[in-house]
Amino acid sequence: MDALPALSFVPAVGDLAFTAKQRSLLSLANELGRTRFAPRAAQWDREASFPFANYDDLRQARLLALCVPESNGGLGADYATYMMVAAEIGRFCGATALTYNMHICSTLWTGLLADGIAMTPAQREEHMRRRDLHFRRVVQDGAVYAQPFSEGSAAAAGRAPFGTTARKVEGGWIVNGRKIFASLSGAADFYGVLCTEDKGDEKPDARDTLYLAVPASSEGLSISGEWDPLGMRGTVSRNLAFKEVFVSDDEQLMPRGIYYKGAQTWPAMFFTLAPTYLGLANAAYDFTVSYLRGEVPGEPPVKRRMYPTKQISVAQMRIQLEAMKSIFTRAILEAGPDPSKDARMRLYAAHYSVMEGANDIARLAIRTCGGQSMMKHLPLERLYRDSRCGSLMLPWTAELVLDRMGRETLYEAGERDE
Ligand SMILES: Cc1cc2nc3c(=O)[nH]c(=O)nc-3n(C[C@H](O)[C@H](O)[C@H](O)COP(=O)(O)OP(=O)(O)OC[C@H]3O[C@@H](n4cnc5c(N)ncnc54)[C@H](O)[C@@H]3O)c2cc1C
Repeated sequence: MDALPALSFVPAVGDLAFTAKQRSLLSLANELGRTRFAPRAAQWDREASFPFANYDDLRQARLLALCVPESNGGLGADYATYMMVAAEIGRFCGATALTYNMHICSTLWTGLLADGIAMTPAQREEHMRRRDLHFRRVVQDGAVYAQPFSEGSAAAAGRAPFGTTARKVEGGWIVNGRKIFASLSGAADFYGVLCTEDKGDEKPDARDTLYLAVPASSEGLSISGEWDPLGMRGTVSRNLAFKEVFVSDDEQLMPRGIYYKGAQTWPAMFFTLAPTYLGLANAAYDFTVSYLRGEVPGEPPVKRRMYPTKQISVAQMRIQLEAMKSIFTRAILEAGPDPSKDARMRLYAAHYSVMEGANDIARLAIRTCGGQSMMKHLPLERLYRDSRCGSLMLPWTAELVLDRMGRETLYEAGERDE
């Protein structure tokens, strides 16, 4: 038994048998979220500006290095612990949690996930050497990484090679192409770009996907486009263009061919977008309870809890939230390389349940609390808008998850109808 006292709050993932490390990280995330991120959330949303102040706090709390191994000076959190912490942050500021996910993935994929992907001894040696540099930047310099994959083509859905290319030259790569929806644009120190190796044979192949860190200061890298979306406005996800951008060999975040293997081996790598939305669902539910009890700070203490219809709505919200938490928890605890078919289906189901469920709960919250609750000075309408964005995210949009689940349930690998 460890000596830490019980948590003074129920985390967004629910009350689980946390380790001492998880309890301490969840307490930290909750404290930062409640006291710093929640009071600032309306500002980023109103201005569609990046939450720099929150990143200063994350840096100071060493949370930028959450998933950097302890041997590299990080906090050494595993996959499940990251997912718990991310959900806690999402409860207070969706845009911070979502962009934090982009940053954390650059350390999680090169760290824990890469450890579970088969590599030759030479690839392993190369990877360990290069990731040291990358982890050092995060731990010592507090560097922030973005994760721009989307191109507006079938590539981010995993159905075509990336159109952004990298051509091998002496000492590095020349990157050309364009990315859309690059969260943290203008805020990141490095852009972790997925691109296809240009072998000069005009036969782009997804197996030749490269994962490169492009320094923000690179010549030939530019940011463009308006950013005025419905929700998740603080992510500042503008367009990136790469024109003959030179990137040194050491910026390779994974050896050649390993990203492709990783995406096949570790499907849960795409589930990391979900905790933000589990956090939002918790926030909408919590708001509804305190609003109906007349306990929202700064609002008149009008109670609305005595109406049976409201009681039923709250019960329905809680039932859906509990189902989301249960399947989310099961999925994060069993996540790993090469899941069974059953676990893979459950992972898809968990992703769909959280992404669509978050918006269902936010919708019910507004309907139940009523007209005065959707005013801009209250967080509910922002939660509603932010929650709509989860199931739009590739590669696992709500539609594509349904598509995958149906097909992969009814067809075994390689099976075809004549
Ligand atoms: C707030 C926010 C932040 C984001 N941040 C990032 C980021 O940091 N990095 C990043 O890389 N991307 C990011 N994205 C982009 C996101 O992952 C998707 O790429 C983007 O939402 C896709 O929009 P689209 O209009 O190009 O979709 P389209 O590709 O036009 O697809 C539209 C819909 O059609 C369906 N569809 C797509 N492809 C297929 C197919 N092959 N078969 C069947 N159906 C299909 C999907 O359901 C999809 O929702 C972000 C998006 C949002 C909303």
